[in-house]
Amino acid sequence: MLIAEKPIREIVHEHRASLPTPYYLIDEARLLNNLKKIERVRERSGAKAVLALKCFSTWAVFDLMRPYLDGTTSSSLYEARLGHEKFGKEVHAYSVAFSDDEVDAVRRFATKVIFNSVSQLNRFYPAVKTLPVGLRINPGVSHSHFDLADPARRHSRLGASSLDELREAAPLLNGTMFHMNCENDDFEKFSALLDHIGRRYEFLLERLDWVSLGGGIYFTKEGYPLDAFCEKLKDFARRFDVRLYLEPGETAITSSGFLVTRVLDIVHNEMDIAVVDAAVETHMLDLLIYQTPAKMEGAAKEGPVYMVAGRTCLAGDIFGTYAFPEKLQVGSLIPIADAAGYTMVKKNWFNGIPMPSIVVRRLDGRMETVKRFTYDDYLNSLS
Ligand SMILES: *Cc1c(COP(=O)(O)O)cnc(C)c1O
Repeated sequence: MLIAEKPIREIVHEHRASLPTPYYLIDEARLLNNLKKIERVRERSGAKAVLALKCFSTWAVFDLMRPYLDGTTSSSLYEARLGHEKFGKEVHAYSVAFSDDEVDAVRRFATKVIFNSVSQLNRFYPAVKTLPVGLRINPGVSHSHFDLADPARRHSRLGASSLDELREAAPLLNGTMFHMNCENDDFEKFSALLDHIGRRYEFLLERLDWVSLGGGIYFTKEGYPLDAFCEKLKDFARRFDVRLYLEPGETAITSSGFLVTRVLDIVHNEMDIAVVDAAVETHMLDLLIYQTPAKMEGAAKEGPVYMVAGRTCLAGDIFGTYAFPEKLQVGSLIPIADAAGYTMVKKNWFNGIPMPSIVVRRLDGRMETVKRFTYDDYLNSLS
């Protein structure tokens, strides 16, 4: 099933003269591998899948993605609008808290509205009741490696947690959303969470039309037991007679994006440090937030070792330390892997560092620069 994948280092070297760095590179062939797995899950399980725009909003590849997904899900009015304008199909409108104006605006193009609390549900129900209305539930259990990203952590505001409140709200609802996984690649753990939900919310699930299981299920990962996953989803949907939704973010785009950088300087302070023309803080902020090293494309087991660092003035702006197959020089290209999700959506102008352009490698191998940013974009981001 895997489309033949040309090594990314080869691709960027072929284009080293024509494509100025830094740039984000989305490889449609790699993206398609994930999309085909999503398609298989949709077909075999009957679940629908909506792309989580908060992870990935690079609309230049939405034409490729559209046939494999049922629409988008959002965390805000703007994301919902983007989904409506650029992706089409279903638009799940969710927000941790809507303002009055936002509810008014979003209901014009949302195909479902999902509230985060019973108080928002009660307040805005009259305005949206012609649409399918859902409520996010915090099931009190989750799978996350980071407290920062754990939606069931203590005092979490993410979703309704009181069963009494839920019983009262039930007549207004035709659906619900649970988002309780984060990078969960363990099918057994997912399965146990789903069983928990089935037991705890039986009274509610039986009366609903649809249930979204949120994102964070890493089912496109190599070796994930897709068939068992599909069976599990199908059983749950059948048991409660509901339509299931998945909200893939990271799993939809994993391994398909790169940040292609170039070495600008090599300095020495007890070790060799290669400073590149991009930065962690501005272009891959999530790594800093979660204190995880970047995945280095083409790092070697042995060879000259360099710390690869960004060029903001933040002392800890470091991608990581890696061995390379050969010595790095000023001008060497360094493509950093897994740079599509939670990266491009968080990029910022700190230090006035030039924003990487966005390049898409189309299925036919053509490299298309879909966006270039200039000083004017920086200027217009403030006033
Ligand atoms: C973040 C989020 C997603 C996507 O999560 P991934 O881990 O990127 O798959 C889906 N639904 C909701 C409600 C979210 O908050």
